Amino acid sequence: MRPHDILIPAPAGLCCKPGGFHIDPVRPVERAVITHGHSDHARPGHGAVLATQETLDMMRLRYGDNFARSTQAVRYGEEIALGDVRIKFHPAGHVLGSAQIAVTCKDTCIVASGDYKDATDPTCTPFEVVPCDVFITEATFGLPVFRHGDAADEVKKLLASVALFPERAHLVGAYSLGKAQRVIALLREAGYDAPIYLHGAMEKITHYYESRGIGLGELRPVKGVKKADLAGTITLAPPSATSDIWTRRFPDPVTAFASGWMRVRARARQRGVELPLVISDHADWDGLTATIEATGAGEVWVTHGQEDALVHWCKARGLAARPLDLVGYGDEEEHEVVASDEAEA
Ligand SMILES: [Zn+2]
Ligand SMILES: [Zn+2]
Repeated sequence: MRPHDILIPAPAGLCCKPGGFHIDPVRPVERAVITHGHSDHARPGHGAVLATQETLDMMRLRYGDNFARSTQAVRYGEEIALGDVRIKFHPAGHVLGSAQIAVTCKDTCIVASGDYKDATDPTCTPFEVVPCDVFITEATFGLPVFRHGDAADEVKKLLASVALFPERAHLVGAYSLGKAQRVIALLREAGYDAPIYLHGAMEKITHYYESRGIGLGELRPVKGVKKADLAGTITLAPPSATSDIWTRRFPDPVTAFASGWMRVRARARQRGVELPLVISDHADWDGLTATIEATGAGEVWVTHGQEDALVHWCKARGLAARPLDLVGYGDEEEHEVVASDEAEA
């Protein structure tokens, strides 16, 4: 069976005709298989949704109980027959509950990895290499310039700054789903045990992580705390809030931003980020290329991000490779839309 007869790019997203489903569809479909809870991958309005329990819970938190007509929770390693194919979920190491979807038809296996990272993350199950014939990879940081380094070292920089400026507040911009909780967990691993403050838009999802057994120490809502009492503290907020009038409630804030893009100094300057922290939930160039090699795939399809260099790298190694040109997937490391009811929290 040719790979294109199993999975094919369609306007609604990656479509599996023999299985009767789409993966991470950007438009409402009858049956959706969803890799993880970020809003550009997990959208409301589908008929049936298959995803991990955590991804289903995150969709319920964001969209309410009626986000789909029916849902089915799938565990890592569990095999499910859909039409003429079998699917299996494997950990993607991207955020809590994130999964790669292995689609097997006869003896051809295609792995749609969604978003992934091979770096360690105390808040989710580690990435697993899944041997396959065709590997579908993202390319958010698909350029050799992107090497993320060790996230623990970035958190040490943050703690050094807190020690250096005890009279100032530290305001860390971080994506609400995944990145914020990872930064908190890394702070705890580094021995920081003071209360950590949260922007209102992060409370629900962060408490959800705690309910799944992710220890994050003492967390407090920043709302209602007196300005003077925020000196020497750390607050996590969505990236958009850190360049907002919202920051006036903090004493002389040091603005930090946790993102793989902080490797690019010009980006940090543009955003007015005083303390760039290179912490990403996506694989860097070395992670992407090492993962492609480890899967043993002879063919690679590259989705959202910077596809060209990665496609070129694959071809130079004798692998068949092409961009998939899927549309509708955002750049999670950079943007986050905060719902208006949460914005002034
Ligand atoms: Zn994502
Ligand atoms: Zn994505």
